[in-house]
Amino acid sequence: METIVRNLEEVEERIQKACERAGRKRSEVTLIAVSKTKPVSMLEEAYQLGIREFGENKVQELTEKYECMPKDIHWHLIGHLQRNKVKYIVNKACLIHSVDSVRLAEEISKEAVKKQVIADILVQINVAEEDTKFGLTMKEAEETILQIAKLANIHICGLMTIAPFVDHPEDNRRHFKKLRQLSVDIRDKNIDNIDMGLLSMGMTGDYEVAIEEGATLVRVGTGIFGERSYHV
Ligand SMILES: *Cc1c(COP(=O)(O)O)cnc(C)c1O
Repeated sequence: METIVRNLEEVEERIQKACERAGRKRSEVTLIAVSKTKPVSMLEEAYQLGIREFGENKVQELTEKYECMPKDIHWHLIGHLQRNKVKYIVNKACLIHSVDSVRLAEEISKEAVKKQVIADILVQINVAEEDTKFGLTMKEAEETILQIAKLANIHICGLMTIAPFVDHPEDNRRHFKKLRQLSVDIRDKNIDNIDMGLLSMGMTGDYEVAIEEGATLVRVGTGIFGERSYHV
């Protein structure tokens, strides 16, 4: 408990300072606590400290935690989504951050129509064009987004990126700038059913720089819950 309290205080203070430096309001930035691999007991601690936005990267883990946590939580799916898992996640996740193809969007649309809900999504962009990461290239982005926007019961709310793992957060500033610029360029076209209000960028190592560059959603895991260990 102790450490989550202290970690959250520190993250909160850093977010506030980054907002001040950028001349932004604190209310413009939503902190998502990335709880992947962490036990429900730790999520409950964060919940008791007021956290209501949680991020998970796996469908099964998200839905399991969804079942045993309070219902006023907003769950964000931030990891790669396979088409055959879409049925489990639509109407559980408040926002799917990782849509990176028309085929995936079609599946989400189909499921949203079936469940009679609107699925809010972000389109994932691989700004740095790393081979190891999912996401559209900057070049593909606009055409793909136009096609996704035509689908029923799907609402494009903005863009998401996972920046490279770097030692110096400043190194990612240019990637965040590029994502922001892309969202502005698309927004300026005023296309039906495309909102560019949300920008999901910044993780433990670089969320302050991301906020300075316009992030509205920051995804912080290690900075809140500590290091993850993947062995079982
Ligand atoms: C794990 C993960 C995060 C959080 O990473 P930390 O470095 O622990 O803050 C953020 N975004 C995505 C997409 C992730 O998979």
